[in-house]
Amino acid sequence: MGQGKYTAHIAVVASAVGLSLAVWGAAALMDNETAVGMGKAPASQGSAGQPDRVRPQKVPESIAHAAEAGGSAVNITIDDGPDPRWTPQMLDILRENGVKAVFCMVGPMAKDHPDIVKRVVAEGHRLCDHTVSHDTTMDKKSVAYQKQEIFDAKKMIEDAAGGAEVEYYRAPGGAFTPDSRRLAAAAGMRPLGWNVDTKDFEQPGTASIVNTVKNELSNGPTILFHDGGGDRGQTVAALRQVLPWLKENGHTFSFPVRTRP
Ligand SMILES: [Zn+2]
Repeated sequence: MGQGKYTAHIAVVASAVGLSLAVWGAAALMDNETAVGMGKAPASQGSAGQPDRVRPQKVPESIAHAAEAGGSAVNITIDDGPDPRWTPQMLDILRENGVKAVFCMVGPMAKDHPDIVKRVVAEGHRLCDHTVSHDTTMDKKSVAYQKQEIFDAKKMIEDAAGGAEVEYYRAPGGAFTPDSRRLAAAAGMRPLGWNVDTKDFEQPGTASIVNTVKNELSNGPTILFHDGGGDRGQTVAALRQVLPWLKENGHTFSFPVRTRP
């Protein structure tokens, strides 16, 4: 998709509303049902070095949990990296299983490991902003602080990725606020939650991580793992078991919804 489609969207909306320059203001206020037909922003356009601009679709401010594919599809989400030891191993396992995931990256780690960020993008995974400092109390702090945490990390991840779009925002520890959700959504990043916390961060043992997925998948499709923040050997071993198990049990793999609830 290129600029032509972007322009076409404007034309369609403009004719529908009967206005020109005021249209984007109206579009920004539309609910996601109204805007759902406006499609997804072309990822290939990139935004490196360009100011943030209004995108041709509305990203809801609500926290996403559902899978784009619906049905029995699940979303694999992996937080706190990229890590030079663990992330490449997880990418190998994902590739062997033909699975795409969302990587919620901490800005400075992305900046330190642009090669891994580029591999994540090249292999078809999606990027998620997980802030600069991973401050799990950021929901108690000023809007200006939250804004800086979110936007500085977005820039670091985009720069490391060579301009690929950051499509989600996940607050560290789930410390979302209405302001942070609004800021992220306005910048094209859907707030992203989870349904199954594998607790892999606490290193409970590979079997425990695997069993948590099996036992709690009825909660919903979005599963939380970690590739940073410590020794993630158990997570690597668990992924090696969990991905084939999910497939054997009739699950497919998707991404979290982005432009719909
Ligand atoms: Zn985290």
